[in-house]
Amino acid sequence: QNEYTPLLRNRPDSAQYGERIYNRGRWRAEDEASSSSPAPSQPQVNSWNETHESVVVSSDTFSATRSARHQNYESADDKDIVLEEDHDALRADFESLDYEVSDNLLYQKEEKDKSSKRWKLYWRGIRRWFICFLIGVITGITAGIIDLGVEKMSSVKFSSVKELVDRCVVDYCMYSPHLIWLLFNIGLVMVGAVLTAYIEPVAAGSGIPQIKCYLNGVVVPHVVRIKTLVTKVVGVICAVAGGLAVGKEGPMIHSGAVIAAGVSQGRSTSLNFDFNMFHDFRSDTEKRDFVSAGAAAGVSAAFGAPVGGVLFSLEEGASFWNQALVWRIFFSSMVSTMTLNIVQSYIKGHPWELSYAGLINFGTFDSVQYKFYELFIVIAMGAIGGLTGAAFNHINYKLTIFRMKYVQRRWLQVIEVMIVAAYTGCFAYVLIFFSNDCKPLRENRESMLVQFFCNDGEYSSSARLFFDTPEATVKNLFHSPPGTYQVLTLTIFATGYFFLACWTYGLSVPSGLFIPCLLIGAAWGRIVGVLLGMTGHGATFGLSFYSLVGASSQLGGIVRMTISLTVILMEATANVPLGLPVMISLIVAKWVGDQFNEGIYDLHIHLQGVPLLGWEPLPMSANLSAKSVMSHPVTVLRMHESVGRIARILKEESHNGFPVVDEYDPHTPKIVDGCETFGTFRGLVLRSQLLMMLKKKLFQENPDINEIIGSLKMAHFNDCYPRYTPIQRISLTSEERNYHMNLEPFINQSHYVVLESASYTSIFKKFRSLGLRHMVVINFRNEVIGIVTRKDLARYTTAVNDGIVTIEERT
Ligand code: ATP
Repeated sequence: QNEYTPLLRNRPDSAQYGERIYNRGRWRAEDEASSSSPAPSQPQVNSWNETHESVVVSSDTFSATRSARHQNYESADDKDIVLEEDHDALRADFESLDYEVSDNLLYQKEEKDKSSKRWKLYWRGIRRWFICFLIGVITGITAGIIDLGVEKMSSVKFSSVKELVDRCVVDYCMYSPHLIWLLFNIGLVMVGAVLTAYIEPVAAGSGIPQIKCYLNGVVVPHVVRIKTLVTKVVGVICAVAGGLAVGKEGPMIHSGAVIAAGVSQGRSTSLNFDFNMFHDFRSDTEKRDFVSAGAAAGVSAAFGAPVGGVLFSLEEGASFWNQALVWRIFFSSMVSTMTLNIVQSYIKGHPWELSYAGLINFGTFDSVQYKFYELFIVIAMGAIGGLTGAAFNHINYKLTIFRMKYVQRRWLQVIEVMIVAAYTGCFAYVLIFFSNDCKPLRENRESMLVQFFCNDGEYSSSARLFFDTPEATVKNLFHSPPGTYQVLTLTIFATGYFFLACWTYGLSVPSGLFIPCLLIGAAWGRIVGVLLGMTGHGATFGLSFYSLVGASSQLGGIVRMTISLTVILMEATANVPLGLPVMISLIVAKWVGDQFNEGIYDLHIHLQGVPLLGWEPLPMSANLSAKSVMSHPVTVLRMHESVGRIARILKEESHNGFPVVDEYDPHTPKIVDGCETFGTFRGLVLRSQLLMMLKKKLFQENPDINEIIGSLKMAHFNDCYPRYTPIQRISLTSEERNYHMNLEPFINQSHYVVLESASYTSIFKKFRSLGLRHMVVINFRNEVIGIVTRKDLARYTTAVNDGIVTIEERT
């Protein structure tokens, strides 16, 4: 083992590479015995065995410690261990997006051509704006459809139950409305769960973690498919109308992103149609920009918060931003809010009365005031939000691991959703039954007030918490006059809803988390307000204010977003002065929560094994260099490569990028300074490009090859994007296998390289800020010695975070 041994060695035998789980630095049995007291002076060399990837620790840089929870890895059934102990392993089936434009001769020719015909550039700009407009319009309409669906289904459900309740209070048959209520709930959520489990599982949850990954540069399979959108929309309508502790806002963000991905490509590969438009936007770079716009439009439609939408895209992922992109994203957000506004005005029967900007309306907070000293109470509430948020995330994390282990079968997932729906219905009923929270009817004249067990002329205020859509209940909690709810009712509601929401998030059904968080927080915030009011300063402590602060603290403690949430809440309340307390509560909640665990979305990303790169490299990684994390040996191609070798490599290895080199002979290893080198670096070629070249049979032996290459356009390469023909489906005769391909016109000539001594920190920052997929490591002679991909960086971070590898000072 020489000093170039990478920290996390990669699988040399990539035939096994497709295996789902990347084992994060597991120790082999023989190493385990010695690793209990790792000796930094003795290099520990782990090699690959059939299923396990190993951590290789170079003696001068690292010592390894093995955490107790990894001790029994080799002893038990591998699958169980993966799910139970190694649940945060990185998975190999997540591929990266290519945000780097391949600067090859073909591309350069086309760009030169465009710069001489300026109208082409303008035309491209105009079409970009047009796509953003379409994204906004379609997202707004989709939000309208979701809202209408939820409203209609909920009103059918609630009015039937209300009618029965009113009758049964007199006839003593209260079991029957309960039964009907349960049947409605279970039936509706069953539809959503079946769709999700059997048609598109990636539509489960809010979709925010998946979109966050996409914006970060990782493709979560199926995440932006049309099937996912349909499942999401129908599923979320069923879940919300079915009374689960979920909201429809999170799924809107995912829906917006899918709409953007579809519209910007001008076709659907799932439905097999192509409008033959927008060819030049068929690349990861362009698509990602539009997906950012879609996500922003989704937030905007959900909360009526266009600026919040833009900030959400910024906070959650986009690596590089320019002014034009921000403008386009903002434009999409605005269009989406306006479209929803118009759609809603028609749905509500007041055409063109534009006062329905988002799916949720927090009502007006104009009269809400606070005093400076109340900001200290806000800080304390933020801390409560952080603590309860951390507890929520921890419980949900454990529950998700349990689900990953025991609730894998689809029918089990559907059953679980139905059980949760039934439980939610029972919880509501029991609360209404036992809490004697009756209020005189004359104080309130809303249609959905239910008498339940109250006397004539009264309504049950605890029933009111459940007999409406969650959005309406949040608004109620914010604005109901003092005395509407007893402290006991609110306490039971907040506690029960906390556990319900915790159980519900992660079920196999589309579900948003924003509304449940707001509900829990608004309930306990209101309790804080009521309790403070009892201290004798009654008039000063506004219940609306404390409900809002409680809601923002709870939301911040669970999701841990700051800037975008502040602006979203500010826009949703349409009150700038409230921005400060909201921001303080969010920041404190995040800060407190971060002391215990990550935000819920990050935890789920971690559990899925997505190689996500955080904002910053590990603080203690400054001592590391490129050679510590790179893969070595490297599979390279020569400038004039034989077709047979290319086809074999593509078949046997699943890498997506190959350095192209000169002066390389695969049969004669060249060692420089004790390290094998792989030829002089010339550029990088992508698997997708090689597949296209093979499919088009661009062989040098073809007499017309020069004319064929001369007539090639980038569009030819983008046509199959993003689903390229796999190598197994490209047929090559044995004669063709002896031919050659000239890779020169296709290699990316401005590909990023680093010297072997480059620091890990700078590599990480380049990956993060430029959205890189591969980085080639060279020596001072420009010879390739290694390659780094995002998985190398992510896996390394995970290994250190989990205590599998510790870094010591370089000697
Ligand atoms: P991605 O999957 O992110 O789209 P990729 O498939 O090219 O990109 P990874 O899946 O990240 O690359 O690579 C898995 C492992 O293989 C990594 O450790 C990486 O360093 C290594 N690797 C990638 N390309 C090569 C190559 N050409 N030669 C040798 N190892 C490579």
